[in-house]
Amino acid sequence: MSLPAIELAVFKDNGFSRRKCRISGLWFWTTDKKRDTCGDTHEDEYTFIGAPVISGFSTLGKQLKDEMRAAFLGFFEQRQHTIIEPYPILARWRDDIHLTIASIAVFQPHITSGEVEAPANPLVISQPCIRLNDVDAVGRSGRHLTTFEMMAHHVFNRPAESQDIYWMEECVQLCHDLLCDTMGISLDEVTYVENPWAGGGNAGAALEVMVGGLELATLVFMDMVEDEHGDISIKGVNYSKMPLQIIDTGYGLERFCWAAAGTPTIYEAIYPESVAWLKNLAGFSGESVGMDDESLATLLAEMSRLNGIMNIEVGSDAEQMRAMMIDRLAKRGVEIDEERFSAVTEPLSRIFALPDHLHALANMIGDGLVPSNAKAGYLARMIARRILRMRDDLAIEISLCELMEQHLQINYDAARMKLNSAGLMAILAGEEQRYQEMLRKGEQVVKTALKSVDKDAASLQDELLFNLSDSHGISPDLVVSFAAGLGWKNLRLRTGFMAEMAERHAAQAKAAAKSQADSSLLDSVPKLPATIALYYEDIMRRKFTATVLDCIPITLAEDERISHAIILDRTCFYPEGGGQEGDRGTIGKAKVLDTRKVEDLVIHLCDRPQKGKIVGNLDWNRRKQLMDHHTAVHIVGGAARRILGPHIYQAGANKSVEMARLDITHHRRLLRGDIDEIENLANQVLQEVENTEKITLTRKDADSEYGFDLYQGGAPKGNEIRILKIADHDIQACGGTHHDQPIRIGTIRIVRSSAVQDGVERLHIVAGNAALLHSRQQEDLLREASDAFGVSTTDLPKTAERFFGEWKDQRKRIEQLEGEIVRLRTTGGGDDSIELDGVRLIIIEVEGDIKQMTKMVGELTRDADKPTLAVIGSTDGGGKLLIALTENSIASERYDAAAILKQISHHIKGGGGGRPTFAQGGGSYADGIADALAAARDLVEQSPPTSRAIDATKDAIERAIADGVVDQGEFALIKRAAEQAGLSTEQITTITEAVMDGHIDEQEKILLENLLS
Ligand SMILES: [Zn+2]
Repeated sequence: MSLPAIELAVFKDNGFSRRKCRISGLWFWTTDKKRDTCGDTHEDEYTFIGAPVISGFSTLGKQLKDEMRAAFLGFFEQRQHTIIEPYPILARWRDDIHLTIASIAVFQPHITSGEVEAPANPLVISQPCIRLNDVDAVGRSGRHLTTFEMMAHHVFNRPAESQDIYWMEECVQLCHDLLCDTMGISLDEVTYVENPWAGGGNAGAALEVMVGGLELATLVFMDMVEDEHGDISIKGVNYSKMPLQIIDTGYGLERFCWAAAGTPTIYEAIYPESVAWLKNLAGFSGESVGMDDESLATLLAEMSRLNGIMNIEVGSDAEQMRAMMIDRLAKRGVEIDEERFSAVTEPLSRIFALPDHLHALANMIGDGLVPSNAKAGYLARMIARRILRMRDDLAIEISLCELMEQHLQINYDAARMKLNSAGLMAILAGEEQRYQEMLRKGEQVVKTALKSVDKDAASLQDELLFNLSDSHGISPDLVVSFAAGLGWKNLRLRTGFMAEMAERHAAQAKAAAKSQADSSLLDSVPKLPATIALYYEDIMRRKFTATVLDCIPITLAEDERISHAIILDRTCFYPEGGGQEGDRGTIGKAKVLDTRKVEDLVIHLCDRPQKGKIVGNLDWNRRKQLMDHHTAVHIVGGAARRILGPHIYQAGANKSVEMARLDITHHRRLLRGDIDEIENLANQVLQEVENTEKITLTRKDADSEYGFDLYQGGAPKGNEIRILKIADHDIQACGGTHHDQPIRIGTIRIVRSSAVQDGVERLHIVAGNAALLHSRQQEDLLREASDAFGVSTTDLPKTAERFFGEWKDQRKRIEQLEGEIVRLRTTGGGDDSIELDGVRLIIIEVEGDIKQMTKMVGELTRDADKPTLAVIGSTDGGGKLLIALTENSIASERYDAAAILKQISHHIKGGGGGRPTFAQGGGSYADGIADALAAARDLVEQSPPTSRAIDATKDAIERAIADGVVDQGEFALIKRAAEQAGLSTEQITTITEAVMDGHIDEQEKILLENLLS
């Protein structure tokens, strides 16, 4: 069966009737007797442009948003809803999405699954969200935004437990009262469209609330779960009822503001000052596009009405949309040609998108996200680069920081930001710098990436665009723009591609979360009671007795010594988790080689079976070291946050016996000074904090008490949250093993930092005994080095510096001498250097590696007055060949280095390649070098001129005829041409003599013209 009609008293009492939309076919409720469309079709224009449907609000911008939000929250608070503070925009509590995309997302998965109690019930919230799936339409459609606040009232009913707050009837009544009483919307303007909702394995009846052609709200009644045996079918999928009934609503704050302002676009309702400021900066006005203000205003008003019925969606063709818009405008009496239309809409769409994008960027970075080329950081960088691109397209000459400063001042509630303004600006300045760098290098990168793409191609492969973006940070639109400059004139990017990129990143997050959940050690998990974790009761305990509950043979372990998985009723062995390796030791006679967790069972991976009662013994030294490292990671993380700023967030961590590493989000490389400061503070904490606190809270209490920074180590499962509190220094949800007294660690050293990726810095940490071992190793290294120099360790730096300086000088001298040898060999008139028609040929074997050879040929072919072909070979590392020609000389006109290499490299059983003026190759057969060089000599001396050489000769003769002067190069070419033209010796002599004197008279000219033909 499908869902029944949504028949409610609130509809009947207020004179609504149910009709079927003539266009969409959906059922809807309306009080307007004439209405036969649901309000969400291509015939339903915006009716509120210039005639606001919401009354009682006279402001615009931030003030309007604040008033609207207050009105909404106040309305529901008066009706027994608890106001919940908004959650962060970075969905730290989830591992399947990066950003909060809807108000319900803050309650998923723990609360919507029923596992965890809601923070209040019923509740009301205004949740900032970011959605990048419509990013291409922002600024163009008049209504799309990447960042918005979703106002919502939520209810979580458990009918079986008689927890029944309210359901459809009351929900729609509340919505109706809000719209018609509080917002003053006239009844006839409102339609409720029945359109079931499904997503993420859940589904339910839903109503879309349309006002004036704009969807102002959605009311979803989620009470079904996907079930192949279920008896309710929605969009071809079967569902059955679930124990929880959830009301998930969404009221778009910005849309309410727009409907109250009646401005042509949503951007002018919520960012009016910014739009005006940017128009001014960009010099945009009626005059700038060749229209008077009145006809521009008419055009924009008509366009915004049309925008309501023209859906600019992902995948739609921009040019086609433009043509359609122009056509429709004409039907309404607004004539405009394509050129002027673009002159108006192109700059305007950027002016509208900029404040939205700045708002999204402030939301993301302000919440602690550091831009990078990967994961969530990618999303921030993408937005930052879109802003910079739009700014450049508008020819606005102010920095990203200045744009942001203006935005924050006018539109932003800075108190909401976790990061301080200086931190935000430092990140933005870094982004601008990277952007400029990318612009400088991007062209070359694009050129290389596109080298096998046809110049007439109309599109590029998605993979290629994804790669350029992921590895070089060059956005697809920029790739297309670079490519246009490089000769690929027909390339286009389909509308919606940027959004697809964002979705791809979202999908990666989801896939990563899934693969983590999927990897399982056992084929099937035995039904046993959860293992009692003795390591939580007493962290210092290393010996225990327990009973073997199950002993499962294992065949496919990474460590081949592992033969059995032993499950006990209780254990001191900590299973691998939170980046900490699993414990080792013994269980009875069995060696425990690793410990893992599967569901709520601890699995001891052992080298033999055991049964009955056993005594377990932990490898204590190992565990102590792991605890040192694990606790140190917490302390260093806290210290980094204190020193570097609140944006520092753990991006990953690993704790092994040898060392620990902590990845933190930070916008620049760390200096040794930063690291020293963090290290000092970490060691101070060891001295100052006597005891760590270990607390277990329900998720609800943990969230409300400590917020989401608690989940630095990832999103924990379940309702019970273990928290490690190191005074106020670091408070985190963590299920690992930590010292009760930090001082037991002894000492913490941060050995070095390295860059994991843009925006993520890795700290390499040693603590406890590992720190001692590390310093001992360092001293050994010092001692060995000073022994080698024969000086004391204190003199080592000075000595090393002196030796290095001398070594560098000597190397330079050796290179000079090598060059000198080559010069001597090639200028002495011996076999190494011969001249052929004005080109010096140097074909020799030398000693040296490819770097030295490159230097030599550089030296030999540098002088433009000495056109040279150099072919040098070396037996270094299996045989190397290098061929170079003096650029822009008759040598380069006559020969092709890559072609020569191709013909001789088989002598050394190798290959290679290069340009016409420079080629290099290598092979496995060094003894073939002499043959290769001999072959090169034969080739050069005997080969007929290449077509390039013929062209060059023709050019030379033509030049000579034209200017009446024969220079040395031209002479050589003419002589050779005469020799090879099959003329008699006498004729050759005549021609040679004719041009030898350096100029040409009329008779000689005829001779040359004959030769030419
Ligand atoms: Zn921990």
